[in-house]
Amino acid sequence: MFYTAYIMTPQKRTQRLRSAGLTPTIQRVAVLEYLESTCSHPTADQVLEEVRRKHPSVSRATVYNALDALTKAHLILRLTVDPGVARYDADHSPHAHFRCRLCNTVYDIPVHDEKALGLDVDGHRVETVRTYAYGVCSACLKKTNSEGSLGEPTKLMQNASQSRSASSPDDTGRGGEPSA
Ligand SMILES: [Zn+2]
Ligand SMILES: [Zn+2]
Repeated sequence: MFYTAYIMTPQKRTQRLRSAGLTPTIQRVAVLEYLESTCSHPTADQVLEEVRRKHPSVSRATVYNALDALTKAHLILRLTVDPGVARYDADHSPHAHFRCRLCNTVYDIPVHDEKALGLDVDGHRVETVRTYAYGVCSACLKKTNSEGSLGEPTKLMQNASQSRSASSPDDTGRGGEPSA
């Protein structure tokens, strides 16, 4: 969570699900609760692993369906910063994502174009700006500085650094909306 720390009571979380038109099942609440508590942008499998700590009998399909429902209801964001696997984020505050090509960690980084949100640009109403950045994280830099080479940047990086991914069909969460 880069800008907003979510302090949400269970009642508020249940209410949020209801007002988004979702039945607040135990599994959906658990998924939302975990995503609100982390800024690690976990994959579906990582969410499953966490939810199973509290609810050991929960099935993979249930957690995957919960992630789908929460994404469609715009309660969480499905990120395509990692082309190999979807990652999830409950933080709706304006921020960009930086993925380390060495350790695959996804970090929140600040964006400086929030001003565009809610503005008309060339007649278009901008609602969300998604920025994905790629490189080597500070932890890996420290490690490689002492161990040697960083290797070559991948092709993926070159493509991705140009993409704002605003047109990505898999990525249509209302990420830029100010959180209530
Ligand atoms: Zn790294
Ligand atoms: Zn994030």
